[in-house]
Amino acid sequence: MTRAYNFSAGPATLPEPVLQQAREELLEWHGAGASIVELSHRGPEFMQVAAEAESDLRKLLSVPDDYAVLFLQGGATTQQALFALNFAKAGQPVDYVVTGHWGKTAVKQAEPWGKANVAADAEPGGFHDIPARSQWRLSPDAAYVHYTANETIHGVEFRDIPDVGAVPLVADFSSSIASEPLDISKFGVIYAGAQKNLGPVGLTVLIVRAELLARTGQPRPPILDYRAHAEHESMLNTPPTFNWYLAGLVFKWMLAEGGVDAFAKLNATKAAMLYEVIDGSGGFYRNEVAKPVRSRMNVPFFLHDPALDADFLVEAKAAGLISLKGHRALGGMRASIYNAMPVEGVRALATFMRDFQKRRG
Ligand code: PMP
Repeated sequence: MTRAYNFSAGPATLPEPVLQQAREELLEWHGAGASIVELSHRGPEFMQVAAEAESDLRKLLSVPDDYAVLFLQGGATTQQALFALNFAKAGQPVDYVVTGHWGKTAVKQAEPWGKANVAADAEPGGFHDIPARSQWRLSPDAAYVHYTANETIHGVEFRDIPDVGAVPLVADFSSSIASEPLDISKFGVIYAGAQKNLGPVGLTVLIVRAELLARTGQPRPPILDYRAHAEHESMLNTPPTFNWYLAGLVFKWMLAEGGVDAFAKLNATKAAMLYEVIDGSGGFYRNEVAKPVRSRMNVPFFLHDPALDADFLVEAKAAGLISLKGHRALGGMRASIYNAMPVEGVRALATFMRDFQKRRG
């Protein structure tokens, strides 16, 4: 059996050594007499797995000590529904900078509890660029400013952390967490669904400054309260133990591979390889995102003639390259090239794209 190079946007490809280790440990974990997924989350075995995953993630991302790291359920979307509830007073504005589909989702999820103000919106330009900071209409009394660090569908990525003064930044890093070094002290919250760069779907990581956890927010049950989750070390209810364990293996793999500095270099190389093919194709392939904000993680592209799309996908699959179909909202193609995608996989795709153009151009 051979594994293809899998360009899925998420759930996404996982490092092969991690899958192999999980397979080896599946029936029985380290002499425990059972697999890790069959043991109590409060037993010594899983407590060790959970603690190691947290300390490895803190090391990997250089998380400052005054930030809590929470391992949650419900995906990134559920977190988007909880920010205004946890961090804003009733009626207090919450600001959103919308640079793609997921920024729009964040606004929708916030609206029932927050006075959501869209401070900047890139939709009129087709989500091809990030509105200049000078054009953002921020609320002086906002509870926070939310933005999407990397728009997974539209392929638009912030290359700098925006300066919004004293108002805390809440940032969706679902599709770019751990892809390069990041100064977490500049944020109130960063959050990410695990299923792209961190591990399997079913786990969401939230890194939050202690000062924000102390906010009163609005009335909410404990299960929707970040402070309660922090006080119970993310075990307020039964956590997704297998997902947490598997993400922990991915964190160890990333540290062993040289950490975020090493991945930053590889990710820049991989993205440049694909944009070079697209830009050098004379219009056979096209990516419409402004060059300075093109995503390093998700490369959407279109063939000049959509009638070729089906053949492109069939032939790519035959060449061992899968999951290249673009999101239904955009059409076309998309290559997601997270940390676990090796340079060889991207090289194989670049070669295939050039070859396909030669044959069909
Ligand atoms: N934000 C971003 C940037 C995403 O890419 C996604 C999922 N693709 C989401 C939010 C939604 O995540 P989930 O499905 O985990 O709720």
